Amino acid sequence: MENTKLAELLFPHIDKDPSYYEALYPPRGLKEGANVTRIGPSPTGFVHLGNLYNAIVGERLAHQSGGTFYLRVEDTDAKREVEGAVELVLSSMRYFGITFDEGAVIDGDHGSYGPYRQRQRKEIYQCFAKQLVQRGLAYPCFCSEEQLADMREKQISKKLNFGYYDEWAVCRDLPYEEIEKRVKNGEAYVLRFRSSGNIENTVEVFDGIRGTLKLQENYQDFVLLKSDGIPTYHFAHVIDDHLMRTTHVARGEEWLSTLPIHVQLFDTFGWERPVYCHTPVLMKMDGETKRKLSKRKDPELGLDYYRKEGYDPAAIWEYLMTVLNSNFEEWRTEHPDVPIGAFPFRLDKMSNSGALFDMMKFEDISREVLLRTPAKEIYQKMAAWLKDYDPEFYPVFTKDPEFSTQAIDVGRSGDRPRKDLVNWKQAKEFLSFYYDETFRYESPFPENVDATDRKEIAKRYLDTLDFADDKDTWWQKVKDIAEDMGYALQPKKYKKNPELYKGSITDVSNVIRIALTGRANSPDIYEISRVLGEERASARVQALLTD
Ligand code: GLU
Repeated sequence: MENTKLAELLFPHIDKDPSYYEALYPPRGLKEGANVTRIGPSPTGFVHLGNLYNAIVGERLAHQSGGTFYLRVEDTDAKREVEGAVELVLSSMRYFGITFDEGAVIDGDHGSYGPYRQRQRKEIYQCFAKQLVQRGLAYPCFCSEEQLADMREKQISKKLNFGYYDEWAVCRDLPYEEIEKRVKNGEAYVLRFRSSGNIENTVEVFDGIRGTLKLQENYQDFVLLKSDGIPTYHFAHVIDDHLMRTTHVARGEEWLSTLPIHVQLFDTFGWERPVYCHTPVLMKMDGETKRKLSKRKDPELGLDYYRKEGYDPAAIWEYLMTVLNSNFEEWRTEHPDVPIGAFPFRLDKMSNSGALFDMMKFEDISREVLLRTPAKEIYQKMAAWLKDYDPEFYPVFTKDPEFSTQAIDVGRSGDRPRKDLVNWKQAKEFLSFYYDETFRYESPFPENVDATDRKEIAKRYLDTLDFADDKDTWWQKVKDIAEDMGYALQPKKYKKNPELYKGSITDVSNVIRIALTGRANSPDIYEISRVLGEERASARVQALLTD
């Protein structure tokens, strides 16, 4: 009776019953074994690798099983929220190829288990909170920040556990009349859970990654609703994951310590617990020591970083999968050309201790991934990136897509393909010489070749050039020119007896290389000439005659 009165006093505006929501959000009726998963990012304006890591776990668990993966915006902490943060989450996830079946979208919600923004679910949480009050399992607490700080001081000096429990829970048994007076006076209060847990007890929780955990039961009267009536993460996610019929909660291991609270709530409501999957914290090596990736020190923690630097999302997926599942690399070796989606991702292959994020390894994997990617696809991805990040080079690069695609493909076949492409940021550096607009001499001509010889080499090269020649014939002609002009055919010979030669074949071929590319280092110049085409290639060598 008292409890019902209290519930009405605290929640006079709540006229619905939990059964209303149970009916509104019925079990999903998916096929046996289909998982329902989600990510629940807070809109803080910083989307990090951990968000993507958990998103991949959730996405795989759902989509591999024919289930549902959704996005829920956990915006209960208005103080941390920044403008545009939801858009940022959505665009980052889209960029990384994470697709949601339902959830928050730019201008609202998509799906029938919404709203998917927690602040819009206030009434739902309050409805369930009201039920807890009716059951005598929740009560208002009027303790101020100062009182709580003071309590903490005392607990420290007495070497006791912190928190709101036992005799410290001073608002636990306030008489109804006093509560009524204080509420009517407009005093601020939070709503606390009345825990019957015991510090001596343990509770068993199955974790999808860690197996069965034995944790200390929660004995604290934690906060369900804050003084503005908005729930804490603990309460909100339990209500949401139940009503949205989540089967697996993949989230960071920082939530392990409060897991006893979460299972206590599930058990109190008599709801089936989801399978919690606590993913390991992302670490990096800093010299000899391992440490957590930090927002302040490590730009690579932010997802934005990969976009700005032009890393292919496919490479991030590939790398994160190697970190996530210990058998992925072996699978990839056996299935080099199979799309990553075909890999059977498994929770029991996940490690539960700090996952090491190694930028060097990531870049190696990125090289491999790009080498397997057809040049046409690289062209499209590069163009999309350049459009946003290098508007000057973008029109040059996209003027002739076929030409740029061929340029990208130079040196990528054969036994020893080049593996230097790591990200789209390198586009200009690697390709600028192909285009007349961006071609320039970046390296000096070889010292061993004087100006007269340089011209002579160019002249003879053009005189003997037959663009239809195959590579061997073409090279033979270069060798003939070198030999005839007094350059050693083997660099070693020249090194041994420098007085006998003007230089070596390398000097001669470098004259042509620099004429064609402006650089002393470049991929195979025969291949490059094929891409440049007869006219452009000849004109560049011709330029040596007139400079
Ligand atoms: N809002 C929580 C966070 O950003 C989500 C944790 C969860 O996925 O349950 O850490």
